[in-house]
Amino acid sequence: METRIVKIDENHIDKGLMEEAVEIIKNGGLVAFPTETVYGLGANGLNEEAVRKIFQAKGRPQDNPLILHVHSTQQVKELVVEIPEIARICMEKFWPGPITFLLKRSQIVPDIITAGLDTVAIRMPENKIALELIRMANTPIAAPSANISGRPSPTSANHVIDDLMGKVHMIIDGGKTGVGLESTVLDLSGDLPMILRPGGVTKEELSQIIPNIAIDSSIMREGEGIVPKSPGQKYRHYAPKAEMIVYNGEIHSIVEAIRDNTKRYKEIGKSVGIICTDETKGLYTHGYIISMGSRKNKETIARNLFNILRTLDGKEIDIILAEGVELSDLGIAIMNRMMKAASGNVIDV
Ligand code: AMP
Ligand code: MG
Repeated sequence: METRIVKIDENHIDKGLMEEAVEIIKNGGLVAFPTETVYGLGANGLNEEAVRKIFQAKGRPQDNPLILHVHSTQQVKELVVEIPEIARICMEKFWPGPITFLLKRSQIVPDIITAGLDTVAIRMPENKIALELIRMANTPIAAPSANISGRPSPTSANHVIDDLMGKVHMIIDGGKTGVGLESTVLDLSGDLPMILRPGGVTKEELSQIIPNIAIDSSIMREGEGIVPKSPGQKYRHYAPKAEMIVYNGEIHSIVEAIRDNTKRYKEIGKSVGIICTDETKGLYTHGYIISMGSRKNKETIARNLFNILRTLDGKEIDIILAEGVELSDLGIAIMNRMMKAASGNVIDV
């Protein structure tokens, strides 16, 4: 398949190019587009055949449900049995934005979207290109991250091109994404609101509205017998090609452990990549050293993480040693992605 790549400026949206994209969606094709979290791989969310193509292009497991993207709260009504009061309040406060709500699904949502579950995941993105595409297509758009399943999510059009060239009809290049991590997934379908995936909207922000907010205990752990409530959380994800270890604890101890281990790996002939921060960068002398940004600015770290994992894939690196971050604010989402990238290989120091 030929993939058309087009550049669209979020602040001056080219109507002609958008119409081309909409035509593809209406005909059951695939369009990769920017959102404020990561790039999405979009198809008409109410067309089962079109949605099937997403799973094929990504190599995504069939039991991992997709998020439906909407441009208005009006559009949510036909997708769900009801909108509970708490959902109404959260939508008002956080949409458009990086948070997805799980609600009881209606019959018009195809089974392939929900992987047969009785809930559906819905989000209103903030990126203007994404919103306009959904509005013009006049249908909810199913859009998981636009990467081959298991690889780090794409935060620029080049990442999408690397993974999906020849597998999708169009890639819209709208520049780098702002948040850089996927949306928070919040389950509002039961009695107890629960965060199933940490993301762009933090637990601290949610607690202001839902003081007793719960968080799925599997989020920061991985291994035998731990079953996450969100199917996508059980897969190896965001995985760089090299083996990866995340160090968790006091920053001084982290630096010491990474320095010691870099030496040890070098001695047995392995090339080491170090993911560090601006504050600690100068403390390492060996290995391929790359900073995520300042520890004081988790937004920057979130924005850079996936790009760094992909950059390291381009180097001849056998093992990645990464500094963990504190679990406040975006730190939970950052550590969740790092832990998954490392297949649960986290060392407390
Ligand atoms: P992605 O779009 O690839 O970032 O992944 C969407 C995330 O939402 C995955 O972790 C899914 O497992 C999760 N998700 C989507 N729909 C549901 C659902 N009905 N129940 C639980 N988790 C869901
Ligand atoms: Mg994904």
